[in-house]
Amino acid sequence: MYSDVVLGIELHNFEKLLERSKKKRGVTQDHELQPKDLEQLVKDYKACVYLQLGEEFPEDPQQQLWGAVGAVFGSWMNQRAKTYRKLHDIPEEWGTAVNVQAMVFGNMGNDCATGVAFTRNPSNGAKDFYGEFLVNAQGEDVVAGIRTPQELTIKARKSHGSDLPSLEEVMPGIFRELENVRHQLENHYRDMQDIELLAFNGKLYMLQTRTGKRTAHAALQIAVDMANEGLISKSQALMRLKPDLIDQLLHPTLDPKAKKTVIAKGLPASPGAAAGKVVFSADEAVTRSENGDKVILVRIETSPDDIHGLHAAEGVLTTRGGMTSHAAVVARGMGRPCVAGAGEVKVNYSSASFEVGNVVVREGQLITIDGVTGEVMLGEVPTVPPQLSGAFGTVMSWADEFRTMQVRANAETPADARQAKEFGCEGIGLVRTEHMFFEGGRIVAMRQMILASDKTDRQAALDKLLAMQREDITELFRIMDGLPVTVRLLDPPLHEFIPHTEAEMGLVAKAAGVPLDRVRRRASELQEANPMLGHRGCRLAITYPEICEMQARAIFEAAAEVGRSAKKTPVAEVMVPLVSTLEELVQLKKVIEATAQQVQKEQGVNFTYRVGTMVELPRAALQAGRLAEQAEFFSFGTNDLTQTTYGLSRDDAGAFLPEYKAKGIVEQDPFVSLDQEGVGELIQIAVERGRRSRSGMKMGICGEHGGDPASIEFCEKTGLDYVSCSPFR
Ligand code: PEP
Ligand code: MG
Repeated sequence: MYSDVVLGIELHNFEKLLERSKKKRGVTQDHELQPKDLEQLVKDYKACVYLQLGEEFPEDPQQQLWGAVGAVFGSWMNQRAKTYRKLHDIPEEWGTAVNVQAMVFGNMGNDCATGVAFTRNPSNGAKDFYGEFLVNAQGEDVVAGIRTPQELTIKARKSHGSDLPSLEEVMPGIFRELENVRHQLENHYRDMQDIELLAFNGKLYMLQTRTGKRTAHAALQIAVDMANEGLISKSQALMRLKPDLIDQLLHPTLDPKAKKTVIAKGLPASPGAAAGKVVFSADEAVTRSENGDKVILVRIETSPDDIHGLHAAEGVLTTRGGMTSHAAVVARGMGRPCVAGAGEVKVNYSSASFEVGNVVVREGQLITIDGVTGEVMLGEVPTVPPQLSGAFGTVMSWADEFRTMQVRANAETPADARQAKEFGCEGIGLVRTEHMFFEGGRIVAMRQMILASDKTDRQAALDKLLAMQREDITELFRIMDGLPVTVRLLDPPLHEFIPHTEAEMGLVAKAAGVPLDRVRRRASELQEANPMLGHRGCRLAITYPEICEMQARAIFEAAAEVGRSAKKTPVAEVMVPLVSTLEELVQLKKVIEATAQQVQKEQGVNFTYRVGTMVELPRAALQAGRLAEQAEFFSFGTNDLTQTTYGLSRDDAGAFLPEYKAKGIVEQDPFVSLDQEGVGELIQIAVERGRRSRSGMKMGICGEHGGDPASIEFCEKTGLDYVSCSPFR
């Protein structure tokens, strides 16, 4: 070990000699070698060192010690340490320290032993003393797997069916003392400890203790148990559970024992792990999944045209786009794992394959993606299903005692809404109505509406949309059972909806009963240079008020219908997107209110509704005081607010943000975690000005940041009433 760690000679050189010696003696275990064999082995090792280094192995203890000290300092800069620091955000300049101290030995006879232990089970959190030891050995032997280690307790020995006696049996005195140390350490640190111990000439020595690493399940169980035991308070238990851990519990996760071959890494865009055969188109995803295959959809990027493929696939991998890209948002909404923006993956649609370095993966080949780490792996890595144990429910009920904000969901499909309700959401904070038209033939009607060149044509398309919209919203009101549902007026960035292929245009022409040429011309007229800043959001409703009217009607007719039959009155919140001026809101609110009155008259039912606005443009944030004269609630659309505050495209930022992160210009992708200084200041201004003009005004967030822990903390400090995010987040 000294030659390996200090002198840098690879271990296998010595292992070869050791193996040769055991073979000669006809034994398999190191300790079966005779003193003569060991004497010869020492000579061979020294010769090996001389051969490798051209100098003798150091014999002077002082020299050996300084060599060891130097090796510890040197280890700070080895590749493993560098990677570890990067993963755990540990600054390089901290450096490391060396303690020099006399040691006892676990390998000086049969009254000596070495062991490692956890004060509780790190894999399921049970309050069992969990560990392993070896008599007459050193610590390295326990982990190296050369000798089979023995259990600490009789209970563990029996449950594992081991023939080897436990420490409790071999060294009962040492064991009793160790049990006391175990309790003393837990009482002192008030957390599960990972300890190393030695027995030397019948006496127990503790080598080290540190907070033990544990699985998500164990973390939950230990926190709940320790709070119940009075070791920590409920709030301490909650604060110990890192948010990403809860995320892990809700999705199938990779089996931690499985072997994996990681070939690329992208952004962890939607949690969970999934394996399947690679497909490169949405249609192929559907065909294969209908034939019973599990598939992973691999695209450079996705668009609403791929929605059926996203649905059919187990998971999605994209090479472009960030955490708020289409694929990421939709996958999170559907609870599908997604790795986005994996730039090293080079997709070649024409040959139906992708390359990463010199690895080529073809259509039909199996891969696994992990939406928690962003890893892409070859083959199928086994997963384990989520298990929401009793401890999970306990933690959630404790969280309810302490939290001040409400939690709503971003959901537009009944399936998402039901899922969210099951997870305990307190309403829907964002229904993206344009997403309701992604599926099946619906997108054709939507395209027909967008491409209509006059009011009559548009009305024909709107009539089709009205029926679908009313039906969907009715279902959402029913599922939410009296909880508020915030329905946002259409906000389609046009590039996501205009048909691109001849076939798509053909379908629209047929549906609208107009010549293909007219559709083609209209599609090209509608091309925008910057669609994200183009004719979208309320601007669409301002130019075509009939769209706003249709949507308001769909919402209110749904409210009336549910109000008639359900026990609890539905609460409809109509939300206007992408507002920048008061006048936009004034004009649209007029249309919405007139429609509400009309529907109430027609149906003879009253229903509760509110009209509010998204705050997702800097001008809206600054003008919040005036907007609040009209708006009854605000919802912060931090995706667009980030995009427009930075002047940074949501769709294109993925190309250079990683470099910005690497160069320390931004600490976090601002589309992932809210830029609290800049975008955050705009939110603070809007909250303050909005509530000054409308006291107690209800405010929430519905951008993707609503599911990001650090951003949620900011929302709480800023005084928002709720966060809204996709169900699984
Ligand atoms: C937002 O901009 O934050 C938002 C929720 O709207 P969308 O992502 O649909 O633009
Ligand atoms: Mg928006």
